[in-house]
Amino acid sequence: SDLPTRYEFAAEPTHDREDTGPLPVVAIVGRPNVGKSTLVNRIIGRREAVVEDTPGVTRDRVSYDANWAGRGFTLVDTGGWDPDAVGFAALVAAQAEVAINLADAVLFVVDATVGITDSDEAVVRVLRKSGKPVVLAANKVDDQRVEAEAMNLWSLGIGEPFPISAMHGRGTGDMLDAVLAALPDAPAERDAVLGGPRRVAIVGKPNVGKSSLLNKVAKEDRVVVSDISGTTVDPVDELIVLGGKDWRFIDTAGIRRKVKNVQGHEYYASLRTNGAIERAEVVVVVIDASEPMTEQDLRIMNTVEETGKALVIAYNKWDLVDEDRRYYLEREIDRDLVQFRWAPRVNISAMTGRHMEKLVPAIEAALDGWQTRVPTGQLNAFLGRLVAAHPHPVRSGKQPKILFGTQATTMPPTFAIFTSGAFEPSYQRFIERRLREDFGFVGSPVHVQIRPRV
Ligand code: GDP
Ligand code: GDP
Repeated sequence: SDLPTRYEFAAEPTHDREDTGPLPVVAIVGRPNVGKSTLVNRIIGRREAVVEDTPGVTRDRVSYDANWAGRGFTLVDTGGWDPDAVGFAALVAAQAEVAINLADAVLFVVDATVGITDSDEAVVRVLRKSGKPVVLAANKVDDQRVEAEAMNLWSLGIGEPFPISAMHGRGTGDMLDAVLAALPDAPAERDAVLGGPRRVAIVGKPNVGKSSLLNKVAKEDRVVVSDISGTTVDPVDELIVLGGKDWRFIDTAGIRRKVKNVQGHEYYASLRTNGAIERAEVVVVVIDASEPMTEQDLRIMNTVEETGKALVIAYNKWDLVDEDRRYYLEREIDRDLVQFRWAPRVNISAMTGRHMEKLVPAIEAALDGWQTRVPTGQLNAFLGRLVAAHPHPVRSGKQPKILFGTQATTMPPTFAIFTSGAFEPSYQRFIERRLREDFGFVGSPVHVQIRPRV
């Protein structure tokens, strides 16, 4: 009988699932002592940020999930970095790098009682170059008398200074309103979740059974619309109800209309496949179980991974596999697909209808993994544990460290990890593997970007 598909073994993820897409990121920059940490505590509503010594992590947490006026965002406190470790100039540059690479908006804090210093101007130059929206906070304006000083900061040339007192809370509400206004509108990918049926592509080599699968799927349930985006002459997609939900099957015209024995047809077929993958959110790669696996099968799955789409692997024509060979075939497939172990797999027959009912749950599991968001606090706690147990190896007397990490996007989960130096590829893969072990991401590629800050 059948062994359970991989994803049924996946551990229950320990995080909250969200399908609201990534949170926007706000980075706080400014020279030391202007009051950044005080402001962070004010915004997240805590008297003091938790500071813990974890080996390999400069500070326990330097980014926080925050909320203002009902809108969530991730607050990155660059003030937590240790200036002694890298020297002052490097620190300013490092902060600016955070702003450039990571943030959707920058909260630039200046001490109004001190006025503009050379380092403030250095930060302004980098911020200008970055093109990111900047909100200027003139801090330590504890009362009316200091407000005039704040107005001097207009001369920085980056817009209106918001006079605030991080210590007492004065003016921080208006400043946060400005920060929210500076953030880009909800990311476009969020629409993918909220609006319209999910987009599924069925791809695979010729003759693996794509059109049989499509017919089976469309027959068991109801085809609602046959021409959504295409012209009336050449309907491209089909809207199909499966498991009580609408799904948009991508480029079904390309599956139904077979072009064979035409010169260059392989080339056009692969163009078409890549186009369908691009447009899809989740891709079902169909493989012929009665034939040995080929390079072309692997290439298609690689494309799905590289394009960052959710992946389901459907072994079709399972009816052609002898009962007593099935177990061994499973083992072979495990071996062949070791790099896609994270993808849900179903063994089906489009002809007999065998296990077709497993297809939709597999697609849903993959979409779920694709949309997983790990809260910043949990991610950094995880990174702290990981580094404490398995620090990056020392290379030529240096040990690169993790400063902090944040999940930059979902769909697919993409992590930006800021470090004090270059990481070895093997250690980066180690992080990826451990992320999967802890958080699941079933059916989804996981991208990890190491960002050395020097
Ligand atoms: P950071 O190095 O930028 O993170 O600055 P801190 O938050 O550690 O603050 C530096 C110093 O400025 C501390 O002594 C704070 O108490 C003080 N400070 C921060 N905000 C204010 C404020 O709004 N008013 C006044 N008077 N002092 C502040
Ligand atoms: P496509 O080129 O990928 O769209 O493949 P088709 O759906 O046209 O199928 C190619 C051939 O495989 C046809 O002769 C189908 O009848 C046959 N086929 C498709 N699915 C199955 C299956 O599950 N079992 C068996 N035995 N044959 C199948």
